[in-house]
Amino acid sequence: MKRNEADVTTAVAPAARSLGASDRCDRCGAQAYLRVELQSGGELLFCAHHAREHGDKLREIAATVVDETDKLTTTRPSAPAEER
Ligand SMILES: [Zn+2]
Repeated sequence: MKRNEADVTTAVAPAARSLGASDRCDRCGAQAYLRVELQSGGELLFCAHHAREHGDKLREIAATVVDETDKLTTTRPSAPAEER
């Protein structure tokens, strides 16, 4: 298999999973809007509240941070996600 060299420039995982209603904050069980992939390989989920509360600390230990807290203002929980 040949790989297109133009695709190798990004360190972001190509199949970054977006967060959904089944993703729950590890702290309080509310719907998660922040996903943190740790450098150690683990994964943490936080609601918008705890994302704000722990955000600085999380970014120190995170390999990747998926922040979808902006969805809070644009999407209702019951509405289907707008894909595009
Ligand atoms: Zn929470």
